[in-house]
Amino acid sequence: MPDRSEHPLSSYACSARVYLGLGSNQGDSKMVLQRAVGDLSGLPGSRVVAVSALYLTAPIGGPEQPPFLNMVVALETTMTPLDLLEAVQDIEDAAGRTREVRWGPRTLDVDILWYHGFEATEGPLRVPHPRMEERRFVLEPLAEIAPDLMLPTGRTVREALASVLEQAATRVLGPAVSRDDDAPSDPPQE
Ligand code: AMP
Repeated sequence: MPDRSEHPLSSYACSARVYLGLGSNQGDSKMVLQRAVGDLSGLPGSRVVAVSALYLTAPIGGPEQPPFLNMVVALETTMTPLDLLEAVQDIEDAAGRTREVRWGPRTLDVDILWYHGFEATEGPLRVPHPRMEERRFVLEPLAEIAPDLMLPTGRTVREALASVLEQAATRVLGPAVSRDDDAPSDPPQE
């Protein structure tokens, strides 16, 4: 094999655009989400390129529990889908996440919503996330940063959002990553 280490393309890896949905309803949720954004930007070959505002949203399904803070992050990354899944699970674990109750309260939940247009309907990683088109708490922050992204049903994010507006209203609490600390640290109980 010729030595290719000096070749200009030897260190080039394709960057994928990824959208991630983050949620928290335990602990200091605003701080948990801010730390998670920092953790995502520190992943190898990765760069956070956009963040939505924070949204206060009513829980869907599961036991009675406090409202969530949700947001969406756009990442450019050279990580493979499965490496990224493992890395986001480590970030969830580092936030003290336990998985005792399905759809129950959690310190941090990170879903890979969309990975560079890839489609996987089975296996450990399903993308686009199978329930993202049903959830206002995903579509509303995603519409802020990627309104024209095309979803599996052939609709844009903006169009899909228009069909779930009957779900509990979400409220913008200000930018998730900002020097203006205008959002409350803990979601108020309803
Ligand atoms: P959750 O309880 O929502 O964090 O679900 C975690 C499980 O969902 C893990 O076992 C993942 O392998 C699986 N999973 C499948 N697709 C995705 C996805 N797009 N993003 C995050 N987790 C996923």
